[in-house]
Amino acid sequence: MSIKENIEKILKELPSGVELVAAAKGRTADEINEVLSAGVKIIGENYLQEAEEAYEVIGNRAQWHFIGHLQSNKVKKVITFFNMIQTVDSQGIAEAIDRACVAYNKAMQVLVEINSAREPQKSGIFPTEAEAFIRRIACLDNIRVAGLMTMGPASEDPEDLRPYFRETKKIFDQIKPLDLKRVNMQYLSMGMTDSYRVAIEEGANMIRVGSKIFGERQIR
Ligand SMILES: *Cc1c(COP(=O)(O)O)cnc(C)c1O
Repeated sequence: MSIKENIEKILKELPSGVELVAAAKGRTADEINEVLSAGVKIIGENYLQEAEEAYEVIGNRAQWHFIGHLQSNKVKKVITFFNMIQTVDSQGIAEAIDRACVAYNKAMQVLVEINSAREPQKSGIFPTEAEAFIRRIACLDNIRVAGLMTMGPASEDPEDLRPYFRETKKIFDQIKPLDLKRVNMQYLSMGMTDSYRVAIEEGANMIRVGSKIFGERQIR
C-alpha cells in the first residue's frame, strides 16, 4: 500500500472535526511530500534535527507540530518554525519557550502533555496537577495553551488505553469552561496507529499516526 492509499483509508473513517497528524520520525522529506499530496497538512516531528532537514525542503507547506520530548537547549530553534509544541510538560520548558518567543515577537501554541497513567519514568503532568499547571503557565505572555496531549502506557491491547484517554478528556472538559486568559481548549491530541479508534471514541479530536501512514519503521 502506498502512503496515499494508507491516508485515504484513515481519512475515510475519521469523523469530521478530527485532525490527522502524520507522525514522521525517521521519515524522509520525500515521504512527507507524499503525505502533503494526499491532503494531510500537519506533520508531527520528534527530533529537531530531522525536522530541520525536512523543513528545508518542505517549508511552510506543512504545519509543524513538535511531538517529542523537548529539551530546553532545543527550544530556541524549535520556536522558529514549529506551529505548535504538543509536549509541554514542565514549568521550566514553558518558561524557556516564553523567553525564546520574545526574540521572535511571537506567541507559541502549546498542548500540555498529560501523564495520564501516572508512570513515574515518563514525562507529562499528572492529572491531579493539570489545572494548577495550566493556570501557572498561562501567566506567561507568549504561551497560548490550545489543549492537551497524552500518550498513555505502552500496551498490546488498545482497550487498555481507554481509561487513560477518558481521564484526559475529563481534564479537558474541566478546564475548558474556566475560560482562562491565554487558554483556549481546542485540541485533545491522543491516539496513534493502534489506538486512534479508541481515542476518538473517548473524545480525541487530533490523532498522531505514524506506521499506519508510512509503514513499519526500518531500524536504521
Ligand atoms: C511515533 C509517535 C506516534 C505515532 O506512532 P505510530 O504507532 O507509529 O502511529 C504518535 N505520537 C508520538 C508522540 C510518537 O512519538
